[in-house]
Amino acid sequence: MNNVNKNDHLHRIVIVGGGAGGLELATMLGQSIGKQKKASITLVDAQRTHFWKPLLHEVAAGSLNAFEDELCYLAQAKWNHFHFLLGRMTNLDKDNKTIELAPICDDYGNEVVSRRQLEYDTLVLSVGSTANDFNTPGAPENCLFLDNREQAERIHTTLLNHYLHAQASGSAQSELNIAIIGAGATGVELSAELHNAAIELAHYGLDAISPQNVKITLIEGAPRILPVLPERISNSVHKQLEKMGVTIMTGQLVSEIHQNSLVTLSKTTLKSDLSIWAAGIKAPGFLGKLGLETNRINQLVVRPTLQTTQDDHIYAFGDCSSCTITLKNGSALTIPPRAQAAHQQASLLAKSLKRVVAGNDPMNFTYKDYGSLISLSRFSAVGNLMGAVTGDMMVEGALAKLFYISLYRMHQMTLFGKVRTGALMLKDALGKTTRPHLKLH
Ligand SMILES: Cc1cc2nc3c(=O)[nH]c(=O)nc-3n(C[C@H](O)[C@H](O)[C@H](O)COP(=O)(O)OP(=O)(O)OC[C@H]3O[C@@H](n4cnc5c(N)ncnc54)[C@H](O)[C@@H]3O)c2cc1C
Repeated sequence: MNNVNKNDHLHRIVIVGGGAGGLELATMLGQSIGKQKKASITLVDAQRTHFWKPLLHEVAAGSLNAFEDELCYLAQAKWNHFHFLLGRMTNLDKDNKTIELAPICDDYGNEVVSRRQLEYDTLVLSVGSTANDFNTPGAPENCLFLDNREQAERIHTTLLNHYLHAQASGSAQSELNIAIIGAGATGVELSAELHNAAIELAHYGLDAISPQNVKITLIEGAPRILPVLPERISNSVHKQLEKMGVTIMTGQLVSEIHQNSLVTLSKTTLKSDLSIWAAGIKAPGFLGKLGLETNRINQLVVRPTLQTTQDDHIYAFGDCSSCTITLKNGSALTIPPRAQAAHQQASLLAKSLKRVVAGNDPMNFTYKDYGSLISLSRFSAVGNLMGAVTGDMMVEGALAKLFYISLYRMHQMTLFGKVRTGALMLKDALGKTTRPHLKLH
């Protein structure tokens, strides 16, 4: 087996997973101790390009073309003094401080790169999470998921294919039934984007399915939508979704999914031409086999320093980790799986690992909840802002939309700096004047 970085004499920091958190960390470390040649920073990701996950529902509906917002890992590495290695981590040897990467094969199954080992002095795992179908019968075969760019594009293509089929059949009154399972932020935002897509598709001539005949049903097991957000946000979003014509079923657990229907625990059967699973999360299964402490959804249990409980040299953060901290008032808080948390943890680790490389102790993570914002496509946004000045303030409409977009701009700012982020904002604004409102292919 190949050993990729055996002769590197610097302190080797290997980060696995270049998502919302991992790519920010690699960039920040690269710009500091990487550039100063105090450490060698290597980012490993199973994909060739980075796409910011909270935008996936826009790709699924076609409001955003993923090709325009993807970032090439190799280029980002070159610009920011870190190394990038394409590969999927499958195993860990804690005693010899090595990770194993699966072979890379081409589209025909031919091996392009064989299994490799990578040595580390400090390992950071930030491999994210996927939806959790809770072993619901029929879900893997009959549902589409929204965990990565390929899956989001599959939803978009399937949606367009339903329209093409309806156009070709010549019927003026075709119906499309879409069921979204899970009314957390992902399910809610997706239902609003799909409602917008129905209007736009008719506008561009795909009118065999009229917007009124796109029946979107949002199904939630909890008594209300957005169950982890304050009730007043949940109520406001509920009303706005109903105004759009989205049917909301709360307190309903889906128990079976078939090709064109689904069944709830209360034995209600629902017609569904397109079922999308957007409920729950779980961390990748291989984490449970590494000999580190994990919880029931495969998340690595970490201390407030973000070090795993059983190995000081291995850190984990973002969605793949479970970190419980003690707040000033003495209560315990488990950090939620959100981009905001991954961003804050990446910033902490960028400082903390510099200290570790210099022979000092790592720092403790403290979480600042800045609130939550839910985008309802171009129609509105709703949420709350938490701050020393604002307190807990509910925001709606254009102001909420502005804060919602700023989360992505903050991510871009960490990756590109202020000037390039400004240029990207200008490019996005100009692009809106030259392309259709929706990706139509
Ligand atoms: C549709 C949608 C909307 C969302 N909206 C919001 C929002 O509005 N606000 C918010 O705060 N959060 C939102 N989230 C949640 C947010 O996306 C996640 O909390 C965040 O992306 C977690 O960041 P991460 O770095 O832990 O993982 P990710 O961003 O998921 O990145 C994980 C990376 O690890 C790589 N990887 C996985 N396994 C391996 C492996 N074995 N080897 C190598 N690489 C691997 C993946 O390719 C990926 O690049 C949303 C999520 C979804 C799906």
